[in-house]
Formats: sequence, C-alpha cells, structure tokens
Amino acid sequence: MLFSYISHLFCPKCKKEYTTKEKHQLCECGSPLLVAYDLDTLKANLTPEMIQSRKPSLWRYHELLPVEDSKNVVSLGEGMTPLLEMPKLGKDMDIQHLYMKDEGIIPTGSFKARGAAVGVSKAKELGVQQLAMPTNGNAGAAWALYSSRAEIKATVVMPKDAPTITRNECAVAGANLYLVDGLISDAGKFISEAIKDWGLYDASTLKEPYRIEGKKTMGLEIAEQFSWRLPDVILYPTGGGVGLIGIYKALNELKELGWIKGKLPRLVAVQAENCAPIVKAWNEKKQESEFWPDSTTIAFGINVPKAIGDFLVLEALYNTNGYAIAVEEKQIIEEQKKVALLEGTFICPEGAATFLAARRLREQGWIKEDETVVALNTGLGIKYPNTVDIEVPILNLSDSLYKNV
Ligand SMILES: *Cc1c(COP(=O)(O)O)cnc(C)c1O
Ligand SMILES: [Zn+2]
Repeated sequence: MLFSYISHLFCPKCKKEYTTKEKHQLCECGSPLLVAYDLDTLKANLTPEMIQSRKPSLWRYHELLPVEDSKNVVSLGEGMTPLLEMPKLGKDMDIQHLYMKDEGIIPTGSFKARGAAVGVSKAKELGVQQLAMPTNGNAGAAWALYSSRAEIKATVVMPKDAPTITRNECAVAGANLYLVDGLISDAGKFISEAIKDWGLYDASTLKEPYRIEGKKTMGLEIAEQFSWRLPDVILYPTGGGVGLIGIYKALNELKELGWIKGKLPRLVAVQAENCAPIVKAWNEKKQESEFWPDSTTIAFGINVPKAIGDFLVLEALYNTNGYAIAVEEKQIIEEQKKVALLEGTFICPEGAATFLAARRLREQGWIKEDETVVALNTGLGIKYPNTVDIEVPILNLSDSLYKNV
C-alpha cells in the first residue's frame, strides 16, 4: 500500500496541473497551487476503522498527506489535539454544545506546527536545503524549529512587534532571523527579493502547496473526533486563512471518500475589527479582498492586511453558508479571561476572538442554541505573556495574607 495517494498539483484559478516530483511555488497565473489525491483508489484501500488504531499524530492520515516516503517525515509528535467540551462557557453564551479544538497542546505551542511538519517534510523530500519566509511569529518559529530538525537552513523575517517568544524560538533553532519595523506584508517584500537573488525555496503562506495540507489535518481530526458526524459550525481566526481553506479541503476530501455525509459545517472566518479585509469582502459579496491599510490587533496571528488565498477563504464561506465576522478589539482579552476563569484554559488572543465571535453570532441568532459549535484555539496563551494586565499584592515579610488579600 502507498504511503501517500498524492497525484498532482492543480491551480484553483486557471486549472493548470503540475507534477509533484519537483519544487513548485505559485502557478504561472499567480494563484496558489493545491494538492490533489487519487481518492478513488484510496477509497478502495482505506477505511476509517484502519485509521482509528494508528498513533495519535497527524501522520495517521498519511495517505491524505503529500509526503511519499515515510523516511522523509519530520515529526515532533504533532496532531491529534484535544477536542474539549466547554459547558460553562457554552452556558454563559447560551450555546448548548460548545467545543474547543485546542491547538495550544502541540509542539511549538501553536497550530503552525501542523503546516511546518508537513511543509518541511515535503521540502526535505524535494531536496530543499534553504527556505525563507515572512511571518507574524508563530509560523516562523515552527518552520525554524522543524527546519533545524530536518537540517534545512531557514531565513525568517518578522515584524518587530511580533510576540517576543517567537523570535527566541527562531534564534535558538539557528534560523537567520531579521526584524522589520512594519507588517508581515513588509517582511514579505524582503523575502521576495531574497528569493529572487539567492534562489531560496519560498515557504511564505500558500506560496508552496504543502503547508495547507498540514493544516488540513485539523479538519480531518475534528471529523474523526466527532465519529465522522460533523458539527454545525466551525469558527476559525483568520489571517492568511490557510487553516480555514485546509479544513474546507479536508471535509471535501472526506466527502469524496464517503466517510462523511450531508451538509458541511458552516465555516466562520473570524477577524479583528481593525484588520478585517475578508469580512469587508464578504459583506460586499466580493470574490477577493482588498489590502487593509494600517491594520492592527492584539491577536497578532490574524494581523494580515491582504491574504494571497483570500478568494479560497471566501469560496469556502460562500459554499458552506458560512459567515465572516469582525470582533471588537477591546473584548478579545475579556473573552480570554472568561475562558480561563470558566474552563481553566489559557488560550491565545486569536482563539479568544473565535469564542467572542461565537458569542456575537449566538446573540444575533445566526447560531441556534442547540447547534454543535467548534471554536479553534490556535495557540497557547502563555506565548503572549504581556496581553493580560494584572495587579498582584506584594507581601512584606511581616504581613499576613488576610491583611493583603
Ligand atoms: C497564524 C495564526 C493564525 C491565523 O492562521 P491562518 O491560517 O494564516 O489564517 C491564527 N492564530 C494564530 C495563533 C496564528 O499563529
Ligand atoms: Zn493558475
């Protein structure tokens, strides 16, 4: 049996096809490329039961991943993250069946590990020795760490305001790291030039076709964790939108395999009010977004003013009767605190934004009280130690607790 049922790459815009034996970046037409699999043959050879007995890592879905030789798998044990019930938070927002897919519990502390594990493994298989990418922090950290495990040299450029810990992760991994006084789009300009000048492999979001395949596994896991019966709504904090495109791709592949039936979950793109290009495009029923000037948000992973895969995100929203919502900046940290207080989990601000969005969509009636709702928490709260302001009483040695508390 084959390790991977990958068949070819295709362009979702102009439909041109490419083989998978050599390196490819964007299509000639400028669109990202997607990976196709021989699902007809796979259907005859693989069943959900066979998957269930495999190790709890994202590689349990290796037939639906692009790495063809298991020797090339670069793994830190990523995937099969918990799907947690959130009963108290659910009660607080009047949603009876609220779940969190918790991507904090993963190597590098953010779900970027999924894209990096699969992307770096495939880069290794293709003989890549040096790669480069702009990042808002977490992707750079994950790619730098997986690259060092794969003996690939990584060059990373990130905004100087990106979470400090992600710099440190790149640095300890031995990446060439640069900071830029600007946004991820500015970092991207430096990378594009370096790629041209030095012939590096471009690992920017969606400029190589394999990162999305790693993120796709969130969709596969959600389906498996719900015993192949799907939730009604999935909310996703959307920057580049790779995870949302990936989840949509996963669910469609599972449908083609016949492992899931019926309507797909309504997918929701969650953005912050001061960086909401996808929401604006969705409100205007457009197929693509426009660059969002002067974007800013504490949920740093979703500070992306223009996503190269925006048209794929919007397509996924339109095709699933989904929604795009911008949440209030000030409320994100309040929601983060509420999640910790009620459910004991310290999630990242991006994850908090998805819960806030669920709350708002329930208030509007778009989510019904008895629907099953999954919010993605894309990383650990402890990667952002400065987002929560607290005041703690300091004890003098002669004090007693009762005086101070
Ligand atoms: C990158 C990132 C996101 C956004 O992911 P996309 O798939 O690029 O939209 C959300 N949350 C966190 C914590 C991230 O690091
Ligand atoms: Zn094309």
